[in-house]
Amino acid sequence: MVAEVIVDISTADVDRIFDYAVPETIPIVVGDRVFVSFGRQRTEGIVVGLKETSEWGDKLKPIDGKADSFTAVLPEMVELMNFLAKRFFLRKADCLRLFVPAQMRGGKVRELERTAASLAPDRDLDEMMGALRSTATAQRALLAHLAGVEWEWTSALSEQFGYAALKALTEKGYVVTQSKRVIRKPYGALSGKADAVDLTPQQRVAVDTILAHPGGKFVLHGVTGSGKTEVYMTCIEEVLKAGKTAIMLVPEISLTPQTMQRFRGRFGDNVALLHSGLSAGERYDEWLRILRKEVSIVVGARSAIFAPIADVGIIIIDEEHDSSYSSESNPRYETEAIAEWRADYNGATLVLGSATPSLETYYRAQKGEFELVKMTKRVAERQLPEMQIVDMCEELRAGNKSILSRPLLDGLKETLDSGHQAMIFLNRRGYSSFMICRKCGHVLKCTSCDVSLTWHRSENLLKCHYCRNQYAVPTACPKCGSESIRYGRDGTEKVVADLQALFPQAKLLRMDNDTTRGKTGHLSILTAFGNKEADILVGTQMIAKGHDFGNVTFVGILDADMSLYIGDYHSVERTFQLVTQVAGRAGRAETPGRVVLQSYSPKHYVFYFASTYDYEGFYRKEINTREVTEFPPFRKIVRILVHADTEDEAFNYVKKVLSAARKIQNEYPRDISRLTGMRSPISRMDNKFRFQVVLRVTPEHDQEICARLFEVAMQYKTPRISVFFEQNPQNMV
Ligand code: ADP
Ligand code: ZN
Ligand code: ZN
Repeated sequence: MVAEVIVDISTADVDRIFDYAVPETIPIVVGDRVFVSFGRQRTEGIVVGLKETSEWGDKLKPIDGKADSFTAVLPEMVELMNFLAKRFFLRKADCLRLFVPAQMRGGKVRELERTAASLAPDRDLDEMMGALRSTATAQRALLAHLAGVEWEWTSALSEQFGYAALKALTEKGYVVTQSKRVIRKPYGALSGKADAVDLTPQQRVAVDTILAHPGGKFVLHGVTGSGKTEVYMTCIEEVLKAGKTAIMLVPEISLTPQTMQRFRGRFGDNVALLHSGLSAGERYDEWLRILRKEVSIVVGARSAIFAPIADVGIIIIDEEHDSSYSSESNPRYETEAIAEWRADYNGATLVLGSATPSLETYYRAQKGEFELVKMTKRVAERQLPEMQIVDMCEELRAGNKSILSRPLLDGLKETLDSGHQAMIFLNRRGYSSFMICRKCGHVLKCTSCDVSLTWHRSENLLKCHYCRNQYAVPTACPKCGSESIRYGRDGTEKVVADLQALFPQAKLLRMDNDTTRGKTGHLSILTAFGNKEADILVGTQMIAKGHDFGNVTFVGILDADMSLYIGDYHSVERTFQLVTQVAGRAGRAETPGRVVLQSYSPKHYVFYFASTYDYEGFYRKEINTREVTEFPPFRKIVRILVHADTEDEAFNYVKKVLSAARKIQNEYPRDISRLTGMRSPISRMDNKFRFQVVLRVTPEHDQEICARLFEVAMQYKTPRISVFFEQNPQNMV
């Protein structure tokens, strides 16, 4: 027997399958991790195929042994590897790495076993007690304790009763010990309440619709607070009854504890959690529980789509529109495409849920590729919060130079006085800044792309990220002549300081990248806020999503424009999503909520549609713009990005790729447009020079053209440079 092995080495630029002989003594199946010798190294690999003979005949090296006592990669995942390699141009070895916990490679993590003790099963308690001297109090207490439990860790017994007592009892044969597997359980303290609820009529319809078509693909468009999680859980329950399993994805690690709590409340220990924030041991144990079919539900962030779970009956992606579902660093992939692939493979139902579905997804629903299920009402007929838009230019004219508007401060005061809580949101995403006039709100835009221009500090130029255009930085607003045009912004830290000065009695919490380091960083802040230990939570987009705090009645959105002008064709869509999501945190219980949104461009249509909760209206307007300006879903944007030590190397590479791409363009004149080569928006990063080739491709020939472009991109790559091949990148810095 011959095994086809993908060797786990990162240095090799080749992505090949190597043949190894399978010794008769080692039973090997596809998906096993094995030890092999490769060159002069001994390394790990994964068996992706078995065959009778090899063209290398008897010159084959043998497999040295198995790395695990189980088969780590399911047959499904071997096929998924092929799909990923083809669809996202990934190396197969890199795909396989997605499927197993990182520390498992090289044997850096293993199952944890500890010694447990219990009463000897064949002995009588009274008899043993009788045989002990009356002065042996520790031994007596230990025996009594064990009589009340099934077993106990020896470490705990030693600590409580002393090692000597334990040793004496063990030697007498009264107590027996054995090795037991310890499951390192993430957020072990979290267990939810399992109040069964009656579904609202809209939830009922949603559940019935989804369950009516097993294997169907659905978009669940439900407003914030419509109770989507309840719909997911009810669907999962039915799927489990049919003997199948479920994958439930949430966009952020910070949302997993909350989801986990609800799921544990409903499904107990039948849920495993997978995400990159777990400790190596926890991740390994959860992963093993899944592989060994000890659980039927996997909850997690995007990497959980690679969970080794078989017989999947339903895959749910909550907050489907969220950009965290795209992996933006190597290996680059889109979670949704993988979910779709796994759903097809398993004949499973796919549910994409959101209050603000991505335009691409909604477009596909309009075309009939997904069935649309709507929930337009909040649970218990609660109202969506009323949204007030504050014109910050007006504030400035009235002499208020602060980042906090008067209506916002009024709202905060009212909220705190009534004993409710508030959330203040400030989006600091991205460091490339747009230029805005503080007097009239005018934003500088590219004349040919209708996206805002980005200020490049090093060259002091305004540039368009999609075409070649660049513009001098004006000293005054081209529209109104004012000189108060600016780009820098205050961050969350400053806002907290300002608020504290204004509301000395209030307790404040801040949640952003700086305050959430460590595994439980998110959880401790959210728990504290949930327990009303603070009155105001100030945060970045981390606080935007999903959280369900009943006592929050006021939400302030500072600088709502920030996401509007990040020089990206998604900008308007992102802003709509963000505003809707953040606003959705208010008024989720009895007291109605209120939102104050601050903007320098209050008349922008995105705020009109967001404040009236008119997703459909927004969709129609925006999809029209996308079509006219040739953006996704009507075109795919492809970027080939190069990082090099010298400007020359980067430039030469881009020159070659560009001319090769032009040749391809000649073959597909109608499918490739706006082909350009240029410096990247951030032209130097980590001391690397960055250049890029950017183009757009029609969906008709997208796969074959991308394959050709990828080939070209690799052809000119040298060992000294890094090349990134991006399809519809989430941002183009
Ligand atoms: P969404 O994800 O759509 O924003 P959630 O799933 O977080 O909404 O639900 C909002 C709140 O309503 C939660 O506190 C949830 O427990 C509660 N809820 C959901 N469905 C019901 C129901 N049928 N009856 C009562 N409360 C419900
Ligand atoms: Zn102006
Ligand atoms: Zn442009």
